[in-house]
Amino acid sequence: MQYKRILLKLSGEALMGDRNYGIDPARLELYADEIEQVLQRGVQVAIVIGGGNIFRGVAGASNGMDRVQGDHMGMLATVINGLALQSALENKGLDTRLQSAIKINEVAEPFIRRRAMRHLEKGRVVIFGGGTGNPYFTTDSAAVLRAIEIEADVILKGTRVDGIYTSDPEKDKSATKFDQISFQDVLSRGLKVMDTTAFTLSQENELPIVVFDMNKKGNLLKIVSGENIGTVVNL
Ligand code: UDP
Repeated sequence: MQYKRILLKLSGEALMGDRNYGIDPARLELYADEIEQVLQRGVQVAIVIGGGNIFRGVAGASNGMDRVQGDHMGMLATVINGLALQSALENKGLDTRLQSAIKINEVAEPFIRRRAMRHLEKGRVVIFGGGTGNPYFTTDSAAVLRAIEIEADVILKGTRVDGIYTSDPEKDKSATKFDQISFQDVLSRGLKVMDTTAFTLSQENELPIVVFDMNKKGNLLKIVSGENIGTVVNL
């Protein structure tokens, strides 16, 4: 295996599947299958999950809600998604722990770095909920932050496109995909991989990012085995 410890970032929207809101159980099961495959090969898996399928703070703010209030709702949404994913993984008999950045002790463990790392060493999947625990951040930032903290080898950003393109492939048919690109090139070309806060945190800490299509069966294992089916962002 190319990577021993991964941080998988899944967006909340990905959980919707073909729906336009909420959680699609079939999609959850697909993700649980994918995760099981890499665990069976001894890879340690931590996951940060988004909340966009339920709530985004900016959306609340644009409808007149206080931004911080909206962000709190968004963070709670990531805990809901974390519980759903935990359940899907447990249905497969996998050991999991959900750690939350905001205290919600009856529902999830608090985020404790050392404890998270210990869980990983024991082969448990650790899901980080609640984002960074702070408003005005995204779960991409949480993913990079946690990946650095737990000393993950890489952050795997599972999306619905299979990598980073010269322009948006859903709008521009002539767009071509990069197999590999540097952090600097992403910035100078104005490409969108993650929000700026998350992206620069990754760059400064020399944490590589792989963008890949999470919705295709077997892709996660291919990536972890070192097959370059997505786009790698590194120095
Ligand atoms: N959020 C936050 N702080 C964080 C992470 C998330 O306030 O550290 C809130 C924010 O409102 C965000 C929402 O949670 O819009 C859901 O997260 P995100 O939009 O990153 O989810 P995704 O796009 O991955 O589904």
